[in-house]
Amino acid sequence: MEELIGNDKVKETLKNMVKNQKVAHSYLFSGIEGIGKTLFAREFAKTLLCEEQKEMPCGKCRSCRSFAENNHPDFMQIEPDGKAIKIEQIRYMQEKIAEKPIQSNFKIYILKDADTMTREAQNSLLKTLEEPPMYARMILVTSNENKLLNTIKSRCIKIPFLPIEMEKIKKYMQKNFSMELSENELTVCAGSIGKAIGVQELLAQYRQIEGMIQNLDKQDLLSSLKESEFLHKEKDNILELLDYMLVILYKSKDRAKINAIHYVEDTKQRILANSNYDMAIDYLWIRVWEEVNEKYNRC
Ligand SMILES: [Zn+2]
Repeated sequence: MEELIGNDKVKETLKNMVKNQKVAHSYLFSGIEGIGKTLFAREFAKTLLCEEQKEMPCGKCRSCRSFAENNHPDFMQIEPDGKAIKIEQIRYMQEKIAEKPIQSNFKIYILKDADTMTREAQNSLLKTLEEPPMYARMILVTSNENKLLNTIKSRCIKIPFLPIEMEKIKKYMQKNFSMELSENELTVCAGSIGKAIGVQELLAQYRQIEGMIQNLDKQDLLSSLKESEFLHKEKDNILELLDYMLVILYKSKDRAKINAIHYVEDTKQRILANSNYDMAIDYLWIRVWEEVNEKYNRC
């Protein structure tokens, strides 16, 4: 737990629950992606399962060792099968949860991306949340809380996770990846370690975006569109790249560029709504170019 970054308040809360033996049956770990919610959940599980029964797992007992080797008989982590956690997975979990623990005092279940549970899966899980076996502990992890049924949420103790401070992300990246993130790159991470790690893969694209924006008022539409062409091949990363574009436009302090921000927001929505990708990209860059160059036309 000590090695986990950020969210010190969550650390304290969880430790106190263990210390005071006030561990609830079900928790909802909620917060943006890439801030370590699942790592926290696993560490919490390991602590509860540890034979020492202290605030932190000892790392040496039989339980801690089998946890580290991923074969603890009283622990299970459920993840989406494809895009969703399906009712069959919940039924399997319910079969298992009914059997008494073998090695520890508890049986612990982590449901990662719990919001991807189908409606049937959620309704089925609800029965277990309402009447859990004495020894059962469930941790639902989500970055999209509003997709969970209210009846599910009301059965769980919510542990809200906050974005991680920029300075901590900066230090983490220096220490673990020998990487110096710029202020713009840190801004686009928005407090997510997961995103910061992803930045490494996108540095070339970020530089291209900076160039595109810098050249906006120096190029005709055709040349500018040509420079933006690489975005057509970046469908998998486009939301991250558009976020970076937002940061650069905003920080340009140029009124026309700031005015163009809403086209980027529009494009994000279009892409999320699955509209034609290539058209959305062309639309974006034509509008942004027009917005910036209109100013000169008016002069
Ligand atoms: Zn232990």
